[in-house]
Amino acid sequence: MNQNLVPTAEAVSRLIQELNKLPGIGPKSAQRLAYYLLRIPEEQAKLLADAILTVKQEVRLCPACFNVTDCDPCPICRSDKRDRGKICVVEQPQDILALEHTGIYDGLYHVLHGAISPTEGIGTDDIRIKELMERLQHGSVDEVILATNPNLEGEQTAMYLQRLISPLGIRVTRLARGLPFGTELEYADDVTLTRAIEGRQEF
Ligand SMILES: [Zn+2]
Repeated sequence: MNQNLVPTAEAVSRLIQELNKLPGIGPKSAQRLAYYLLRIPEEQAKLLADAILTVKQEVRLCPACFNVTDCDPCPICRSDKRDRGKICVVEQPQDILALEHTGIYDGLYHVLHGAISPTEGIGTDDIRIKELMERLQHGSVDEVILATNPNLEGEQTAMYLQRLISPLGIRVTRLARGLPFGTELEYADDVTLTRAIEGRQEF
């Protein structure tokens, strides 16, 4: 029998539909989760709903580096153990998790929230480039590490940034080759990432 024709309460269908929109949750899993949620105590359901709403209401972007945070500024920008002379530029907040996991980098970050991609209509004004340039105006930064993804969009973005930043007299480096081309930083393993940071080169 076609699953879509199984009669069920309107509210349950709605829940299945919403769960099905989550990454990695297919129609079958959505159904299983929905019926599981139907059975849990109301209190537990409230905790889940509340956790989802709270993350939407309280997690925001750090006004300095644009990492996701629930405090202002974020713990990395706030820390006095970080080298304020270095800014590592990444595409997404989850790239910071990958780089922090190596424990090798002690500078600050800047999250672009994307990469330049003419084919997808993402231009230089659509990512946080203007904000990066504002940060560099203060003169306290002596190295910018371009850690955009080693793929077409990431390389284009890195080249564009290099042309903007070099005239400011700031050293611009790029993560070492060794990260396979076409991959994304967040999926790189610690050893490869550590080598890439340590072996970064003038760009
Ligand atoms: Zn920050």
